Amino acid sequence: MKEMLFKLWCVASIVSFANGIVFQHHNYVQMQDYLHKIHQRCQNITRLYSIGKSIRGRDLLVMEITEKPGVYVSLKPNFKYIGNMHGNEVLGRELLLYLLDHLCDGYTNGDAEIIYLLQTIRIHIMPSMNPDGYEKAREGDCQGVGGRTNANNYDLNRNFPDYFHGTNQIIQKETDLVMKWIKQYPFVLSANFHGGASVVNYPYDSSTTHPHIRGYSVSPDDDIFRSISKVYSYSHPDMFKGYPICNDPFTDGITNGAEWYPITGGMQDYNYMYTNAFEVLVEMACCKYPMAAKLPQLWQDHKRPLINYMRLVHSGVKGTVKLEDGSEVVGAKIDVSWSLGSPKKRKTITTTKGGDYYRILLKGVYDLTVTVGQNKLKTSIDIKEGQVLRQDFIVKNNQQIEALPPKIIKVKSVFPQRAPVKKTTFMHVSHSTTMAIIFGSVGLILVSLTGFVVFFYLKRRRDRMNGSPDDSKAFYVTSTESIY
Ligand SMILES: [Zn+2]
Repeated sequence: MKEMLFKLWCVASIVSFANGIVFQHHNYVQMQDYLHKIHQRCQNITRLYSIGKSIRGRDLLVMEITEKPGVYVSLKPNFKYIGNMHGNEVLGRELLLYLLDHLCDGYTNGDAEIIYLLQTIRIHIMPSMNPDGYEKAREGDCQGVGGRTNANNYDLNRNFPDYFHGTNQIIQKETDLVMKWIKQYPFVLSANFHGGASVVNYPYDSSTTHPHIRGYSVSPDDDIFRSISKVYSYSHPDMFKGYPICNDPFTDGITNGAEWYPITGGMQDYNYMYTNAFEVLVEMACCKYPMAAKLPQLWQDHKRPLINYMRLVHSGVKGTVKLEDGSEVVGAKIDVSWSLGSPKKRKTITTTKGGDYYRILLKGVYDLTVTVGQNKLKTSIDIKEGQVLRQDFIVKNNQQIEALPPKIIKVKSVFPQRAPVKKTTFMHVSHSTTMAIIFGSVGLILVSLTGFVVFFYLKRRRDRMNGSPDDSKAFYVTSTESIY
């Protein structure tokens, strides 16, 4: 009995405290406690703040984790993760708590990659955007909708202003708070986490033609969205595979939002159309509210994707726009288009506090146009694999813009994680299987026919020689003996 209890204690210890992470679901009070404990352990690199309260008075908590939290540092990009926007899709909430725990411990224990992340990125993590909905959801409810909406029964991922179709919804408190938060911090890259499928969903969610017409809704930065989505899906042990993990066949584990199903008022489109940020939506697992026993494995599956995706904030070009006296130019516009191929203009980025800008781009040669008031300057930039380009601009005499010599910042590339894997379709599998069955059957028939021919030949010969009765068993033994 003692031995059994000791074994149970050992198992419980491993499950609950591996890497310091507590693998259980956390309600609002427990989540607050978890965040406070992380802050106590890592005070120098964390800042816990609330962007305001939900309809039922629960704080929308954010933890910033970085060196010098709460301090603006020139050319240090802001990054965000948001979980639990749909209250019953809880995996993002839990895994973001574990991620904070992991970053806190990793920094303390001298993990070089985590130290690099916290030195170079201001990471803001909101584990729950819909704490009211969460309290109504139930563990083990994989496909239900109980707790999905906020306390006013609004779906928050349909509640943002829609660029193509406007909105006639009343903007909810949680939505409004997030919109203000996004304006306050000039986020460069972000993701929000959902459940019920295994895929990365990228803009546009909204159809550019009609709100309910399904079809690929291409954004000007489609190549970038596809690439950053693949970094997440290919870093996951299964998501990138083309077969239907949750009965949804997604090539490379990614999908354009409107091609899957169009929605209006989604948060990722709002980020892309109204702010500097690039955002994708990650469906983390088939089950929306998995049992707590599944959490250790789900954390293992998503740990690397969560880290690799953050590292993407260091890609493309960044720099500052300043006057000759060093004062910053806020609101300068940065436009980018391919130098070769399509000259189509991409999303416009604007300089923020400190006059800095960040433009995520894949490797390639681009035309970059800076606009300050009525003045423009067009310059060419060449971004190579594993590099971030720093391109600063000076505005002289309040009119003439000059490009300073570009500087190359080396970064460890995260494009792509694995060699592209050809989609294995059921057609392909069934074709190979069918061919194997055909060849196998033909072979079997030929062997059987040969056996019968030999059998009758030997039987006839024996009958002729011995004149014995037609006894196949006796003949079989005799014939075997004759062979060996
Ligand atoms: Zn969702």
